[in-house]
Amino acid sequence: MKKTEKLLTKILEIVKFIKNCKFYKNYCAGGTPMKITDVKVETIRIPMKKPFRIAFAVQDHSLNVLVKISTDEGLWGIGEAAPFEPVTGESAATVLEALKLFRTGLIGMDPLDVEGIHRMMDRLLSGNTSAKAAVDIALYDIKGKLMGQPLYKVLGGSVNQIVTDMTVGIDTPEAMAAEARERVEKDGFTILKIKAGINPSEDIQALTLIRQAVGPNIRLRVDANQGYTVSDAVRTLKAFEELGVEAVEQCLPSWDLDGMRFVRSKVDLQVMLDESVHTPIDAAKACKIDAADIINIKLMKCGGLYPAEKINAIAEANHVQCMVGCMLETKVAIAAGVSLVAAKQNITEADCDSFMYAVDPEMGMPGGFAVNGGVYTLSDKPGLGIDIDF
Ligand code: MG
Repeated sequence: MKKTEKLLTKILEIVKFIKNCKFYKNYCAGGTPMKITDVKVETIRIPMKKPFRIAFAVQDHSLNVLVKISTDEGLWGIGEAAPFEPVTGESAATVLEALKLFRTGLIGMDPLDVEGIHRMMDRLLSGNTSAKAAVDIALYDIKGKLMGQPLYKVLGGSVNQIVTDMTVGIDTPEAMAAEARERVEKDGFTILKIKAGINPSEDIQALTLIRQAVGPNIRLRVDANQGYTVSDAVRTLKAFEELGVEAVEQCLPSWDLDGMRFVRSKVDLQVMLDESVHTPIDAAKACKIDAADIINIKLMKCGGLYPAEKINAIAEANHVQCMVGCMLETKVAIAAGVSLVAAKQNITEADCDSFMYAVDPEMGMPGGFAVNGGVYTLSDKPGLGIDIDF
């Protein structure tokens, strides 16, 4: 009898040992959740090659915040906030405060509980979407590392290449045409996004010179960054149509969805929404009144990949395509956005160029993706595939 008891005790000990080992936890039991043990932040200053001018702002640098989320399994993930006050009301200082608050909720949570973590962050603080995006991106980096798969596969995709446009900021029409020619002939881009929205006549002149400079085969889209009135927009977009511009982004103030619907009914080119659509609810409202042909999703506007997938699903169900755009982000957030483009068939366009405006585009962040003109090939390393630590 004693022998049987001893044997039973031994068997129970072995079972307990197996249940506690990492392999069993991760791959067999699916049970004991991983836990977040630390959240670290680092502020980085990104000087631009030259000041970047859009209709309502000029930026010569960006102050971004990197986040590192560590777990009790030894896995960690990196995320990034690229705050831009005129669009989300955030600065590096507000992001740091928000992350301090989120840290208290994050410690002890399962990093795979992305829904729960977004709910926690939304309960603590409304808006603050760049800070939320930083956390969200780090969670997906962890998930990729746990699965041993690159992010585009974690998001359900199989294609590892995307084509991005390159943006030309506002300058004199002649200088914009010269820059457009250089981007095409020297750098190999096939799609250009032209910033506009300060002066409609100069915008038409700039687009005329740009079309002459790059020829008929380069795809052109325009971003007016809320700069036009309804009557400006109808007149100017019709002139853009004649020049073969295929889409115009956010021609009216962000609040004017009815105006966007009206403009859309008067022109043939694609009407795109950017500042009008931050959240999945904004996307649903825009789709409901037929205010857009295409929606520009930005991780910093919506709070990361999890809400971005929701926006894309809402758009797709309403026959609206999506583009993924960016703020002045480094390769960390860009790699996340590009992975989403690669993963989703309804995200047909990419405007993921901002890290290239930086004096040092690599910023000591090897990996993520390789760049050849406008074609990015994503890394097959797990998660974001970017080799940085801090
Ligand atoms: Mg825009």
